[in-house]
Amino acid sequence: MPDTTEPTPEPPASSPAEADGFDRARLSLDDPDSIWVISNKLRPLNPIDYTPGDLRMPNDVPNNNGQPLREAAATATEQLAAAAAAEGLQVRVLSAFRDYAYQVSLYDGYIARDGQAAADTYSARPGHSEHQTGLVVDFDDGGGCALQECFESTPAGAWLAEHGHEYGFVLRYPREKEHVTGFMYEPWHFRYVGVELATQLRESGIATLEEFFGLPDAGDYAPAGSPAGE
Ligand SMILES: [Zn+2]
Repeated sequence: MPDTTEPTPEPPASSPAEADGFDRARLSLDDPDSIWVISNKLRPLNPIDYTPGDLRMPNDVPNNNGQPLREAAATATEQLAAAAAAEGLQVRVLSAFRDYAYQVSLYDGYIARDGQAAADTYSARPGHSEHQTGLVVDFDDGGGCALQECFESTPAGAWLAEHGHEYGFVLRYPREKEHVTGFMYEPWHFRYVGVELATQLRESGIATLEEFFGLPDAGDYAPAGSPAGE
């Protein structure tokens, strides 16, 4: 590869900033290819059957369902898992990218089992799942608390909550924020947003992406999106 001496381009300098000086407009919250895209019950992915173009499997990380991640999230997961391993913690991927069709079958199965009202508390409707962004990992450590609240008290769960931001991950569905995020506390569900934003969120003490960006609470789907007779 030839050596190039071109200077690194300057980032755009004209975006608005809030009191903390963090440029909240630097990346899009709407573009599904943006690592800041915000997907929730009021914000379906657009297009609704979006599929990332840069999916790959993270290397050297146990991956129960063999699901890929977007390039940046895969690299971050590899770094996170290596750092955890250095602390004697075995971090594995339970679930990562799930495509639109998969979410359709998953959600329909939950409705059949528990009814729609219950399903909506723990599973996203198709097109509203963060897993469809390719930027989300459900982590586990094989300690018997997979996808359960007790994961927060496992050594790996506690380490992830403390160090996830160093690798660009945020705990996306924190405790007591169901009215904001639309989902129950999920100490296993981590969303890649990049180190800069994850660290800023951590330092700000703001628990959710919705609150950080001043977006409306997304505790439930918009009425127009709800099927009649629910
Ligand atoms: Zn998840």
